[in-house]
Amino acid sequence: MSHVFPRHTKSALPTVSHGKGVYLYDKAGKQYFDGSGGAAVSCLGHGDPDVTAAIKEQLDTIAFAHTSFFTSDPAEQLADKLIAHAPEGIERVYFVSGGSEAMEAALKLARQYFVEIGQPQRRHVIARRQSYHGNTLGALATGGNAWRRAPFAPMLVDTTHIAPCFEYHGRHNDETPFDYGQRVANELETEILRLGDDSVIAFVAEPVVGATAGAVPPVEGYFKRVREICDQYGVLLILDEVMCGMGRTGTLFASEQDNVRPDIVAVAKGLGAGYQPIGAMLCSAQIYAAIENGSGFFQHGHTYVGHPVACAASLAVLTKLTDGGLAAGVSTLGDKLQTALEQEFGNHPHIGDIRGRGLFRGLEIVQDRETKKPFDPARALHKDLKKKTFEAGLVCYPMGGTIDGQNGDHILLAPPFIMTDAHIDEITSKLRIALDQVL
Ligand code: PLP
Repeated sequence: MSHVFPRHTKSALPTVSHGKGVYLYDKAGKQYFDGSGGAAVSCLGHGDPDVTAAIKEQLDTIAFAHTSFFTSDPAEQLADKLIAHAPEGIERVYFVSGGSEAMEAALKLARQYFVEIGQPQRRHVIARRQSYHGNTLGALATGGNAWRRAPFAPMLVDTTHIAPCFEYHGRHNDETPFDYGQRVANELETEILRLGDDSVIAFVAEPVVGATAGAVPPVEGYFKRVREICDQYGVLLILDEVMCGMGRTGTLFASEQDNVRPDIVAVAKGLGAGYQPIGAMLCSAQIYAAIENGSGFFQHGHTYVGHPVACAASLAVLTKLTDGGLAAGVSTLGDKLQTALEQEFGNHPHIGDIRGRGLFRGLEIVQDRETKKPFDPARALHKDLKKKTFEAGLVCYPMGGTIDGQNGDHILLAPPFIMTDAHIDEITSKLRIALDQVL
C-alpha cells in the first residue's frame, strides 16, 4: 500500500521514470508528449543540462541560508533580471515557493500597503468568476470557481466576483469586441461603488485566463479600462501571471501585450520550469516605498523565501527565455499550433472555439456549436478526455467548469517552448485519437 496522500484517491497513477526534452516516460516504458507541462510548468521541457548544472553548482556553494540573516547572489541576480523585463513601475521582487504563495503574498502586501498609508478601511477584494488563483485560503477566496470555495466558505476573506472578459461566451452579437470589453470592465466600477468607493483593496485578474476557462485572452481595451477604473478609485491592480507568464504567451509577461501597468504581479510555474519550486510576487516602487517608509517590515515570510538553489535554477531558466531568445520564438510556434488546431478541428461538430496566445491554447468542447451549449456537466467529459489523451500518449489539461465554474469542458495545451514544428502534428494526431473515442 502506498503511503503517499494522492491528489485523487480513486485513481491509480503510473510512476514517472524520467523525462527527456518534450517527453515523459513511465516505469512501464510508455512515452508521453508533455503537451501541458503539468499545468504550464515545464516550459523548457525535461532534462535541460544548463538548468541542472546551475542547480548542482549552487548546491556545492550554498544550499540554504535564511533570508532573516542573508541575501544571496542567485536571489539578487534573479531579481535584477526579472525587473529588467518587468512591466513599467515594477521594482521589487519577493520570492516564494509557488503560485498560491505568490498570490497570498500579493493579497497581503496589498492590504498592508493600505494599512501603512493610513487607509485601513479598505478590506474588499474584487476578482472574476472565471479564474483560479491558488489553493491557500486567500488565493482560494479570490478564485472564481464556487465549488472550490464552497467547503471552505467560513474561512475565506471577503471577495466578490464580477464577470470575466470571455468574448466567446459573453459578447452579444450586436456588440463589437471593444464595446464588450468596456462593458465588462465597467462592471468593476459598479462593484467598487456597491462596496464603497474607498473600501476596495485590489482587483485581481489573470491577463490570459488559464485552467478555469482554457487560455482566454482579453479583448483589446479591456485592461486599459480596468486600469483607469483602478486609478480613479485608488484600487490596486494585481495581475496573476502564474500560469500565463514567463514567456508562455510569447512575451515574458503576458500583460505586456495588453499594455497594462499592474501594481503587483504574481509569477511561478515557468519561472522555475519545474526544476525547482519557485514563485515570485513583484510590486511597484510606490508600494515598496510605503513599507520602507512605514513599518519597514512586510508582515509575511516563509522559511524558503529566496531559496538559493531555487533562485539559481530560475536564473538559468530566465537566461534561456530572455538572452537565449526562447520566449521570442513562442509566438511563431504558437501561431503555427493554432493554425494546425484550426485545420484539424475547426469543423469538428463539438469544438466550439480554439483560442489562446503563444504556446497557451484552449479548445472548448460544446454540445452545439450554434448555441454554444455545453455538454451536461454530469457527463464529466473532461475526465474521459484526460483518460483518452493520456492513453494516446499526450499529457494535456482537460478541465470542466469552463462557464461560470459549473458547466462546460475545455482542453488546455501548454507545450514546452523547445518543441518543433514536427511536434505540432504529434499533438493534433494524438488529440484526434482521443477526441474520436470520446465525442
Ligand atoms: N494562479 C494561477 C493562474 C494558476 O494557474 C495557479 C495554478 O494552477 C495558481 C495561481 C496556483 O499556483 P500553485 O499551484 O503553484 O500554488
